[in-house]
Amino acid sequence: MSGFRTTLINCQQCGRRIMVRPSDAERGSIKCSHIGCGAINTLATGSYFDETIVRGLPGFGQLTYLNEPSTTYPLQFGRNVIGTSELATIRVDRFMHNGKCFISRRHCTLTITFDKWAGTLRYQLEDGFADPDSGEKQFSLNGTSLNHIALQKTEIIDVADGGIITLGGADRFQLTHYLIEPVMLNTYKVELAFNPDHTQ
Ligand SMILES: [Zn+2]
Repeated sequence: MSGFRTTLINCQQCGRRIMVRPSDAERGSIKCSHIGCGAINTLATGSYFDETIVRGLPGFGQLTYLNEPSTTYPLQFGRNVIGTSELATIRVDRFMHNGKCFISRRHCTLTITFDKWAGTLRYQLEDGFADPDSGEKQFSLNGTSLNHIALQKTEIIDVADGGIITLGGADRFQLTHYLIEPVMLNTYKVELAFNPDHTQ
């Protein structure tokens, strides 16, 4: 219970404020102190993983170019803009198919975040990229698919480990997640005495 401070919650029955002390949190419940109420409020417990874990990770997964599997691209935490532009985070070659390249300069965006409740990295794909200054979205010319299903323009979709991302219908990339070792993960575990957001 280290770090637990006295907190106010709203009583589930009368809606008035009740003060939760460390001893109440330890017991897992608190009796409403307001006259005429006296309801027993349950304090849900739980845990999450500290997000600073991402600073110590040796990598964030990679993309393998399936048309030529010796070619791989390491990913970075946050936003990965994939395309042929020198401004892309993941700059890929202008792969040619009958003299044509189907990958746009900034074709799609793969965003990596840390899910603090699950303790896993999350990979989310969208077609095109959003200008960081204006927020304006620019889409690829030939589209993006996940596992051979075309993404809708405004769609943002989770990519599972091993998912296949196809750019412009011709170039296939397979995602490999970075899996955080459980021994490392457990050292970043934060126990909650209770979570006020989840109090019934
Ligand atoms: Zn009450």
